[in-house]
Amino acid sequence: MTLPPNVYDAEPIPEAAAAEIARLLQSGDLFRYTAPQDAPVALLEREFADMMGAKYALAVASCSAALFLSLKALDLPRGAKVLIPAFTFAAVPSSIVHADCTPVLVEVGDNYRIDMDDFAAKLPGADAVMISHMRGHTSDMDAIMALADTAGVPVIEDAAHSLGTTWHGRKIGTIGRIGCFSFQSYKLLNAGEGGVLITDDPEVMARAVIMSGAYEHNWQKHKARPGENSDDLARAFARWQNRLPLYNTRLSNLAAAIVRPQLAEVPRRVRDGRRNYDYVAARIAASPWIDVPEKLGPEQRAPDSLQFNLVGLTEAQTLAFQDAAKARGVSVQVFGLSTDNARAFWNWQFLGETPDLPRTRAMLMKACDTRLPARLTQPELDIIAAAITGAAEDVMGAERRFGT
Ligand SMILES: *Cc1c(COP(=O)(O)O)cnc(C)c1O
Repeated sequence: MTLPPNVYDAEPIPEAAAAEIARLLQSGDLFRYTAPQDAPVALLEREFADMMGAKYALAVASCSAALFLSLKALDLPRGAKVLIPAFTFAAVPSSIVHADCTPVLVEVGDNYRIDMDDFAAKLPGADAVMISHMRGHTSDMDAIMALADTAGVPVIEDAAHSLGTTWHGRKIGTIGRIGCFSFQSYKLLNAGEGGVLITDDPEVMARAVIMSGAYEHNWQKHKARPGENSDDLARAFARWQNRLPLYNTRLSNLAAAIVRPQLAEVPRRVRDGRRNYDYVAARIAASPWIDVPEKLGPEQRAPDSLQFNLVGLTEAQTLAFQDAAKARGVSVQVFGLSTDNARAFWNWQFLGETPDLPRTRAMLMKACDTRLPARLTQPELDIIAAAITGAAEDVMGAERRFGT
């Protein structure tokens, strides 16, 4: 009999990592700047830039560090206003606070995507835009880029959950000025911790590299992707020498050695994640109490989790649904109802008073979150789908039958 899967387990790390890690342990060469060239971190950057078709990649300690460095690299003034969707992870507004800027929260609709009316209303006066493609749901990038470009406001993409997602066939993370990704264990590439920033802008890259901790002339170990001109980058490095603080948020060679052999797995993980999502989404959408919002037309998703909205349930029934799913072996969290959830904006008390965002709040009170890793098998997917629809039936079926 198939049991409910442990959706928090990661995939095994490809075996090729073990030999490279043994070599690093033997030599003790764990720091990215010890070797004159081709350190594992430098190789990872080259391979990641190649995979994404970006000119430059900088690997750092986390996606949060990449977001922080992005803001610093844009040279925003202290207190600069940065638009973010109000549905994101607490680390995102935190990165803005860390960079001495001010987050401005934008409403998010029932489909988990940025409300473009609120975005357009809040864009005047903003100095930058940071788009979290939260849980891999891509907002309308055509509209966002058109508005931001017209206003002359740079766009950073928080693509922590969007590796492998495309928009009109373009890779998410390459549409804005800067794209940021995570190697934390719940993301598509798993090094435990880590992140990477990509850009085609030499000025942004040079500033981010230096501030990430390329002290003295270590920036010489950063180059453009082969085939791209590195002169612009070298000039930018020379311009910023000794003029920027060193925040030292580098990645270690060990983490790079763990990520590199996973890059070849990305297409398979994307394909399987999408297949799993489409399969479970279609099955649970048949329930009268469940709505799975449609993706936007130009988007091809790469999901590793599933979000859906409960329809017509009171708060008490929603809580009962969570419990019923748990009893059936599947953990489902309603973002707005699980205590201290880091994705509910009213819990970001470090911001001081958060604005009233009724649309986002209403969504968070009925939006359910469950993990759906690419490695799951069809019988496991069947168990998850049956647990979700069964839990809704447990709570609501009696009401329907007896018309209470
Ligand atoms: C995980 C995540 C982050 C933070 O990534 P870290 O590497 O843990 O700092 C930021 N944004 C989103 C949307 C995420 O899912």
